[in-house]
Amino acid sequence: MNRRAFLRYTNLAGLAVGLRSGNAFGVAAEATKSGHASASAPKSGSPETILLKDYRPTSIYTIPVTQVAKAKFPIIDMHSHPYAKTAGAIDEWVRNMDEVGVEKTIILTMATGAEFDEIYRKYAKYSDRFEMWCGFDFSGHDKPGFGPAAVKELERCKQAGARGVGEVHDKGKGLRSGKSEAAGMHPDDARMDSVWEKCGELGMPVSLHVADPIWMYQKMDRHNDGLMNAYEWRLDNQPNIVGLSGMVDIFERTIQRHRNTTFIACHFMNLDYDLARLGEVLERNPNLYADISARYAETAPIPRFAAQFYAKHADRLVYGTDMGVDKEMYQVTFRILESLDEHFYEIDQFSYHWSLNGFGLSDAILRRVYRENAIRLLASRKS
Ligand SMILES: [Zn+2]
Repeated sequence: MNRRAFLRYTNLAGLAVGLRSGNAFGVAAEATKSGHASASAPKSGSPETILLKDYRPTSIYTIPVTQVAKAKFPIIDMHSHPYAKTAGAIDEWVRNMDEVGVEKTIILTMATGAEFDEIYRKYAKYSDRFEMWCGFDFSGHDKPGFGPAAVKELERCKQAGARGVGEVHDKGKGLRSGKSEAAGMHPDDARMDSVWEKCGELGMPVSLHVADPIWMYQKMDRHNDGLMNAYEWRLDNQPNIVGLSGMVDIFERTIQRHRNTTFIACHFMNLDYDLARLGEVLERNPNLYADISARYAETAPIPRFAAQFYAKHADRLVYGTDMGVDKEMYQVTFRILESLDEHFYEIDQFSYHWSLNGFGLSDAILRRVYRENAIRLLASRKS
């Protein structure tokens, strides 16, 4: 589960926006540093005491507001997780999907063994609405025999109903899939070769998440553009990890070495801040797709550049959410993709202080990103 999905799922979004020691970033602390406020501290309730984490601006513009209750075209959501835990909650999720226009959701369980089987059983009632993807079992990754053992469990999961693999993470410290970790082993490690090859052989696409947004690597100071999210998920204080650019290189080496395996880069490969680079990686690698999940707020500040990127790579981008099951969550993603609305806030949804803008994607692009690319990707699998 990604950070926003987790926050949302645990209902902490409002509380955990980030800055544990709010003072470090507050106006009051800044004033104290420059020596103005030491004599008379601002009264609580004064604008000078408003903390960045509490900032909730309201747009002043009288401009069109587009409500998109249901997506313009049917959707396949390529990035979700087993958020619903009970039969009742799964029923409710399906009702939400019906109302907003999601025909199928790919559930990245990140699980293997009995845990995978249990999740599979829970969702079996709706086998036409949900697809279950499994994780990897990395146990023994540092011992001989890891490859064959991991492949054996992968084959077992496939037998048990898994149609793909995900979400597999590497945020710079090594691979992780749910509870299973392989510290120091990155996707391009030779020990993974037989596992990636088997995914291709079994016709199981892989959803791979590398790195995290750029702000998390940058200094946590007043210049950090994504501070409130970055601080909560900071990576700047972990000096021995592979950085964002290095992880992108590792990802590309992996997809180049395993041309018969289809990879889906989660969250624009975390190149939402440098879409041109992602475009180059997509152009060099035909066995790669990118999902747009959980990076709506990161691309909505640059709507014209983002829309150009969607137009250029419309065949390689797939819709995803990764942010829970609420109708409002889906509807915000539609507003960003479909409308040309400007300067609207969704701070509680995304935790950034900035305003968002719609891309106004054309019908032809929406059809591909919402559904057609996913259909092509999923249909290329052997049964
Ligand atoms: Zn995810």
